[in-house]
Order: sequence, then C-alpha cells, then structure tokens
Amino acid sequence: MVNFLIFGPPGSGKGTQSVRLAEKFNLKHLSTGDMLRAEIAAGTELGKKMSSIMSKGELVPDEVVIELIAKKIDSTKGSAGFLFDGFPRTVAQTVELEKMLNKRKMKIDSMLVLEVDHDELVKRLVLRADQSGRPDDKDPKVIENRIEVYKEKTEPIITYCRERGIYQPVNGMGSIDDIFKRLSKHMKELI
Ligand code: ADP
Repeated sequence: MVNFLIFGPPGSGKGTQSVRLAEKFNLKHLSTGDMLRAEIAAGTELGKKMSSIMSKGELVPDEVVIELIAKKIDSTKGSAGFLFDGFPRTVAQTVELEKMLNKRKMKIDSMLVLEVDHDELVKRLVLRADQSGRPDDKDPKVIENRIEVYKEKTEPIITYCRERGIYQPVNGMGSIDDIFKRLSKHMKELI
C-alpha cells in the first residue's frame, strides 16, 4: 500500500486532481469534505451539527473527521493505497492518521502540496460557487476565512511532514492536465 496526502489551500484543485489520480493509480480517494457534505445531504444528526461550522469556513472537530476516516480505512479493499484529500487539516489530525496507519503496518508515503497564488485561488472559488452550489463558496468573507484557517491551522502540517522527509511541493498553476501530469510523475516514482 502506498499512501498519499494531497494538500493545498481551498481552491488549489485537490478534489479535481484526486478523482483523476485515484483512477489512474487505483487509489482509494478519501475526501473528508465530501464525506461531511454527504452527511448533510442525508440529513443525519452529525450533518446537522456540522453544517453551521462548515458554512462559516471553520474546521469541524478533529474527532469527527478522524472517526469518519477510520471507518473508511477498515472497509476499503483491493486498492493500491489511499489518497487523502482535505484530511489531515491540523497537526493533531496528522498525528492521529499516522497512528492509524502505523497500527495497520502502513505510513504516509508522500505529501503532495499544490502551490497556487492567492488571487488565483479566490478566482477559482468564486467561479466554482456558480457550478457547485456549495454555500461555503458563495460568500467572499467565508472564502477568505477558509484561506486564513488554512494558513493558521493546516499549513503547519507542512513543517511536520518536511521533517519526516515526505514533503513534495508541486506547481498548482496552469491547466488541469498539466498539473495532473506533474502530480502523476511524483506518484509514479513511489508506486
Ligand atoms: P475545500 O475544497 O475548500 O478545501 P473541503 O471540501 O475539503 O474544502 O471541506 C469543506 C469544509 O468541510 C471545510 O471548510 C471544513 O469546515 C470541513 N472539513 C473538511 N475536512 C475537514 C477536516 N479534515 N477537519 C476539519 N474540518 C474539515
């Protein structure tokens, strides 16, 4: 099993690239954002509690996403590894993920970080709002907050992974195909 984190600020293209990469390399794509939105759509208790946090652009509690991920790790069969998208988002989540993987004789093999200019991020998110119908993409204040939360709580994971020698920056500017090729090249080296 080879396990990747795909990493980058909101709007950096993680979701778009993950779907394609997972297909190409037979990886199980796990997106906590998608899992949480599915809870909301299904009208579960958890979904109801989380939707107000998400609509403000804040992070839901670590335990919530850790539990969602743990369930999926154990129910996945036949994939070459995992592609974690939007998770971990805090150093605490990263430590927990490592523990979960280590217990199952796996590890985080590489952290691919999409690097995109701030102005380009905002542009993409505003455009996405029209198509996705995601409430957290509609309000520019919420978009800015999500980018702030990323800088404050999520970006420190980069230092953590750099110290472990698994940090791999990737240029996230340009066409979807070009970025896909760049990411694929790094993944191929490990698969
Ligand atoms: P984006 O595409 O903007 O990066 P996601 O679709 O990954 O956003 O997530 C949407 C929202 O779901 C986040 O703003 C946050 O409120 C919540 N969320 C998703 N994953 C996590 C996580 N690992 N920890 C805490 N909150 C999360």
